[in-house]
Amino acid sequence: PYDGPSADEILRKRKEYLSPSMFHLYDKPLHLVDGKMQYLFDDKGRRYLDAFGGIATVCCGHCHPHVVEAIVNQTRRLQHSTILYLNNAIADFAEALANKMPGDLKVVFFTNSGTEANELALMMARLYTGCHDVISIRNAYHGNASGTMGSTAQRIWKFNLVQTGVHHAMNPDPYRGIFGSDGEKYARDVEDLIEYGTSGCVGAFISEAIQGVGGIVELAPGYLPAVYKSVKKAGGLCIADEVQAGFARTGSHFWGFESHGVVPDIVTMAKGIGNGIPLGAVVTTPEIAQVLTRRCYFNTFGGNPVCTAAGLAVLNVIEKEKLQENAFVVGSYLKDRLCSLKDKYEVIGDVRGKGLMLGVELVSDRELKTPAKDETLHVLNQLKDLGVVVGKGGIHGNVFRITPPLCFTKDDADFLVDAMDYAMSKM
Ligand code: PMP
Repeated sequence: PYDGPSADEILRKRKEYLSPSMFHLYDKPLHLVDGKMQYLFDDKGRRYLDAFGGIATVCCGHCHPHVVEAIVNQTRRLQHSTILYLNNAIADFAEALANKMPGDLKVVFFTNSGTEANELALMMARLYTGCHDVISIRNAYHGNASGTMGSTAQRIWKFNLVQTGVHHAMNPDPYRGIFGSDGEKYARDVEDLIEYGTSGCVGAFISEAIQGVGGIVELAPGYLPAVYKSVKKAGGLCIADEVQAGFARTGSHFWGFESHGVVPDIVTMAKGIGNGIPLGAVVTTPEIAQVLTRRCYFNTFGGNPVCTAAGLAVLNVIEKEKLQENAFVVGSYLKDRLCSLKDKYEVIGDVRGKGLMLGVELVSDRELKTPAKDETLHVLNQLKDLGVVVGKGGIHGNVFRITPPLCFTKDDADFLVDAMDYAMSKM
């Protein structure tokens, strides 16, 4: 049982001592004290099915015993920076991660977050190509430091910073985009950006395989292969941001980019990589990695023994517990059930995503696709009261983001959909 400070007390401290820009998901914020696999527990011991933990961090399940054991054992032994000394944890994890990569993607740089990973990737691409211009996709989220905030393309996450050399391409969004699911048509916009907005050379193109924060938007088929071709022709490197879609989440593949049939020059990752431990990584080719030998480069805690021990444990759990297969099987089942719900309720405009990275978009008019923001918030809060946590996203805040830990079962999927059905029937 929990006997710490009350939710009100924490809220008071949060208001007084923490960032005034912090926000929470619910009208009355959840006070979480425990987590176990796909479940969260509040201060009263009430259990919630977590269909959103994957987004924050949790890939194998909250406090997965094997990952916890690896963290505890390494913490007892040594926790230090690995910049200046040898340690097996970082070397073993780098090797295991590189082995999960296609082609020549063999060199790993560790960071503490997704933002840091993308900042490093963008810098390396600019150094390698000698070009400054970067192309990212509208509705993307890549981080909140200066470079990554520039390539993030949603008003709500952008402060008024100087954003040089970033071009935002038309979003190949099959639901809302003007070319529907014709990926090659959207790809022409990238060619135009290169042609009209740059000197003809670009440093990098960066994109998620499925936009997460943007509301689980799958890129129209054929888009990435066409864009990668144009970007390479203009001398640029292609960066795959796998912070959300990576680590088996999409089910059909280990990495999100693989289902688009492309091989990036640089891959970035974070979140699920450490199952809750602050860890990020950039993987690239030996040739591109060389650019960092021009100066001294280090990251004090990037790749520290505790975080990399956790990372290695995560890879082992994904394999041992067949979590990719589970993401595929349970994800397909859940998507089918959500599609049936769409047939029942007019308010559901679209169901999309792959594996255990699914989105449900609510609209008040299916024809006009008017975002049903209030309804989304209402159902979100109702779901919480019914014991289910889902996320919210999209620039209009009208998309449920369903990204549970990968140990989610068919029974969990049923419970989630039944709860959503009930909440919508009462609306
Ligand atoms: N890339 C993507 C696709 C993300 O979703 C996020 C975080 N939402 C980031 C990068 C940034 O990661 P972090 O918050 O760890 O800096």
